[in-house]
Amino acid sequence: GDAFLSVRDLKVHFSTEGGVVKAVDGLSFDLARGKTLGIVGESGSGKSVTNLAVLGLHDRRKTAIDGSITLDGQELTDASEKQLEKLRGKKMAMIFQDALTALSPYYTVGRQIAEPFMKHNGASKKDARMRAIDLLQKVGIPHPQKRVDDYPHQFSGGMRQRAMIAMALSCNPDLLIADEPTTALDVTVQAQILDLLKDLQQEFGSAIIMITHDLGVVGNMADDIMVMYAGRAVERGTVREVLKSPQHPYTWGLLSSMPNLTSDVDEPLMPIPGSPPSLLNPPSGCAFHPRCGFTDLVSGERCSGERPTLPGGRAAACHLTGDQRQQVFIEKIQPR
Ligand code: SF4
Ligand code: MG
Repeated sequence: GDAFLSVRDLKVHFSTEGGVVKAVDGLSFDLARGKTLGIVGESGSGKSVTNLAVLGLHDRRKTAIDGSITLDGQELTDASEKQLEKLRGKKMAMIFQDALTALSPYYTVGRQIAEPFMKHNGASKKDARMRAIDLLQKVGIPHPQKRVDDYPHQFSGGMRQRAMIAMALSCNPDLLIADEPTTALDVTVQAQILDLLKDLQQEFGSAIIMITHDLGVVGNMADDIMVMYAGRAVERGTVREVLKSPQHPYTWGLLSSMPNLTSDVDEPLMPIPGSPPSLLNPPSGCAFHPRCGFTDLVSGERCSGERPTLPGGRAAACHLTGDQRQQVFIEKIQPR
């Protein structure tokens, strides 16, 4: 196909003292060049772990990886640390939730933006500095010629996030992975940063993976959405499909948990009861069954006894029939 990033039956298992944690357990997805995939789920659903595995940033001593990750045709799961280091920054880069974890307090912002450009493109110090100024300008830092010599602590939180985006874009990566990039910011700055990412994507043509627990964030940003639960994908489709006609009870819960923009009440309308399961000892059958309000509609003990599969394309992994989902959605979910 035309997939630039292709993940097939990925398993990321950690060994811990308590046993094996199946953080990602059989995940497949594709991402085309220049497109944005939103990966949505609660913390512990495996979305961050998946992307650390793509970048090769997992702890190799404690992690067993199975399946396949190809980037532009190159298999990454068996790539050496040296090969991965070459790809990171140049072909793929990461934007973290907290800029302070990515930026060193000891070096100027400009130097940190310039460094990957020098390392991967063999640019001179002078050219790299100019690149840093140019990028600071692109991400909307005022007076970049002056601010390029500032240290991270001299920047506000929103500016640091912009600087980190500049750093990630330093070598014009084909794949940008953004892990909750706006969670730590206030709502206005959040919207600005998302707009900025969209603009930069137009200009740089990067594919983006946007990891978030907030369906609202991907609505304006992504082309496709993959909803993850307990280390697996439970639903996928275009943004429109998933947001307008969600098919999986967990997605219904996520949508209903969003603050309702049209109501004065600030409380979530239908929060998902309970909490995400332990991946040391995940629930049998459908991992969502202990929290699902619709198991009664499925005959026998199927929900707890048989794991639903996720077919390719637009799909949800759930034993409810298409008609049942349609009916529940129309009667219980949509009226909100
Ligand atoms: Fe709920 Fe059963 Fe569907 Fe899982 S398979 S989401 S438990 S109805
Ligand atoms: Mg995370």
